[in-house]
Amino acid sequence: MAKKDTKALIDAARKARENAYSPYSGVKIGAAVLTSDGSVYTGANIENASYGLSCCAERTAMFKAVSEGAGKILAIAVVGKSEQFTRPCGACRQVMVEFNPAMTVMMRGVDGFAEDAVAESLLPTHFNPPELSKR
Ligand code: ZN
Repeated sequence: MAKKDTKALIDAARKARENAYSPYSGVKIGAAVLTSDGSVYTGANIENASYGLSCCAERTAMFKAVSEGAGKILAIAVVGKSEQFTRPCGACRQVMVEFNPAMTVMMRGVDGFAEDAVAESLLPTHFNPPELSKR
């Protein structure tokens, strides 16, 4: 991925973070995905008074891309306050490997934290869709 594309994706995630709806935790996360057709979809975390109904920024962005018929998700940028709030949760990691185990995951904290990973490496023993067909 070209350096300018990486920066643009991170900037889009940083901007999406401003739309977080998090009146309960106060935590703001933004995410942006790049798809194989060159499109970018963004998401922010959305909380609910019934906590279990909340949705992470990463899943919001990925579900937007998939529901819009976008191409394969190649990369996702996640921006939070710090490392603690920027690493994707297990549910988001499972969704990442569903759509592309080789997806590039760029984690950035506004405090300067920066780490890149491949989705599959973040959840090495993930629930594996091909295994379902062997039942
Ligand atoms: Zn999550």
